[in-house]
Amino acid sequence: MSKTIIVSNRLPVKIQVKNGETVYKPSEGGLATGLSSVYKGEGNVWIGWPGKIVKEEKAQEKVKADLKDLNLYPVFLTREEIDDYYEGFSNEILWPICHYVPSYAKFNHRYWEAYKKVNRKFADGVLKLAEKGDTVWINDYQLMLVPFLLREKLPDISVGYFQHIPFPSYEIFRQIPWRESLLEGILGADLIGFHTYDDIRHFISSVTRIMGVNSTANHLIVHNRPVIVDAFPMGIDYEKFVEISSLPRTRSNIKKIKQSAREAKIILSIDRLDYSKGILQRLQAFELFLKNHREYKEKVSLLMVVVPSRDEVPQYRELKEEIDRVVSDINARNQTLSWQPVFYFYRSFPVEMLSALYQMADVCLVTPKRDGMNLVSKEYVASRVDEKGVLILSEMAGASKELSEALIINPNDVPGLSNTLLEALAMSRNEQQERMIAMRKTVEKFNIHHWVKLFMQRLNEVKSMQR
Ligand code: UDP
Repeated sequence: MSKTIIVSNRLPVKIQVKNGETVYKPSEGGLATGLSSVYKGEGNVWIGWPGKIVKEEKAQEKVKADLKDLNLYPVFLTREEIDDYYEGFSNEILWPICHYVPSYAKFNHRYWEAYKKVNRKFADGVLKLAEKGDTVWINDYQLMLVPFLLREKLPDISVGYFQHIPFPSYEIFRQIPWRESLLEGILGADLIGFHTYDDIRHFISSVTRIMGVNSTANHLIVHNRPVIVDAFPMGIDYEKFVEISSLPRTRSNIKKIKQSAREAKIILSIDRLDYSKGILQRLQAFELFLKNHREYKEKVSLLMVVVPSRDEVPQYRELKEEIDRVVSDINARNQTLSWQPVFYFYRSFPVEMLSALYQMADVCLVTPKRDGMNLVSKEYVASRVDEKGVLILSEMAGASKELSEALIINPNDVPGLSNTLLEALAMSRNEQQERMIAMRKTVEKFNIHHWVKLFMQRLNEVKSMQR
């Protein structure tokens, strides 16, 4: 019987040590939930880094045996590999290039050598388990070379590649010194998926111009092998967010937030610390709004959650310092004895608190300068079982293509964003409801399970078409 192998940089587990014993807790992220219907199936497996450096062979064997029961197969990485392949090549070259900040890219040759080596390690892991007729689904930009490495050795397997971050325009992508090898890597797949049609357009323009590949619409011919490039906008676990919205712990969090907000309206923003998220422009827009609309003084607060991320990278550290500075400036200039304009949290929260925040937010402000999809916007919509609240969403987020009933903004237009805040805060209940109902329908229908099913179905279709 043929099997399905999922591959991603990180395995969907959290490793914890309790009383000297190592325990593995399944992670609750959306991707892990969606793909659980696949990798938990009999004979199937998920391959990736377990999230912990394990040096000794004996200890590695133990981890391997423990994970086997969960249908997981570990690829072990050294500290140096994590530094150069993950932090280096993935996060300091591919991430800024794919998010249109090429000036942040550090084209370090050592990173490239590590990226090749680790991609080979992942491919070897797959090749140990894969057999003719199997299906392999590779997730994300850390593993661009794996499809080709598999195709070389096992020409008959079905390979899907999905990239969760944007694919940039040719003019940006071609700046990478190793652009041909990266594209050749991805082209080893039979089905190549992105969140949006714009990503497809950019990818096809890069492969036709850099690799001379022939294409008709979204069909490519790669060494006589048909390859399909398609859009699969990723969804969330809608039902889970609906359920969490009424849990006792969520309800008690809601009460606490109500007490501290008193009568003030809440504008909410939640992101990982990242220069792609437009956090500084958002703060500027909020301050401009306060300046232009004094009537909202003491009547509205921005509640901003920034989840720590990559803060050993200089650009992230600098961004953090700048956010700290701007927030304290805004508060210092505007606050009164009974009102704080910005509540800023540099930490993460459990999902029952996120749900409470989503439910209490009169406005959810999502303003990335670039974002592959943006799940926060969808989680806000799914959590609003009361059908109220206004979503302000950047046109640069993949989610804006689906959530067209949000107030769509250009994140670089600070005055425009300030005006949109006014529009959102003044929106009638009826209009809020109309927009929210439409968005909830979309998020419910195109959920994570639908996304997984669609990708797998399409991969099967491509394979049948090739035959
Ligand atoms: N998130 C979280 N804890 C927090 C804040 C956010 O787990 O304290 C989650 C949030 O629920 C969402 C994810 O982080 O699922 C962020 O995903 P998104 O696509 O918006 O951005 P990314 O961080 O992947 O660029």
